[in-house]
Amino acid sequence: MKSCWPLLVVAMLFLPSPVPIGSEPPSDPVSKAKAKLALAGYTELPPVLVVEVDDLPQLSETLRREILSSTAFRIVIQHPHDPAKDRLDPVIYLYRHSQIYRLAEEGSEAGIALLAASIVHELVHDYADEGRAYAVEAGLLEKWALASGMSIDDRMLLAQFALVKKEQSKNAQIRASR
Ligand SMILES: [Zn+2]
Repeated sequence: MKSCWPLLVVAMLFLPSPVPIGSEPPSDPVSKAKAKLALAGYTELPPVLVVEVDDLPQLSETLRREILSSTAFRIVIQHPHDPAKDRLDPVIYLYRHSQIYRLAEEGSEAGIALLAASIVHELVHDYADEGRAYAVEAGLLEKWALASGMSIDDRMLLAQFALVKKEQSKNAQIRASR
């Protein structure tokens, strides 16, 4: 299961300003993930929007297909003439039908933690690449897997995901060094 695809790219001309698509009640998965992140020191987060593929008609068909296998993603807004002026949309998007979002929505503690870690992964992209983003995500999951207050099943699941993310971090570093 991938939590992040390569950054989606969209032309600036066609990107409307972000609208608060997911204004959710306080008990929604995003609020729970944010509360968990606040306890881990992530008190300042950019807007986090829960979206359906159809909420992003400005994306190409290929990018829209990539969302189907994503938990969270960012969008690169391309400058119409100067690639040096491309910028990262600050919004962190969560795909509503991803397995992790649905798990979190069902109230699973592990699901909330995995969703929170996906948000942090996307946050890291403000300053670092895929390898670092997976490493930070793995570190958080490892920490939460060891914390008490969660069932042993939830903690085992987080530990497994932490291993997968570590592996993805290594693979991303290898790809980047080629
Ligand atoms: Zn990423």
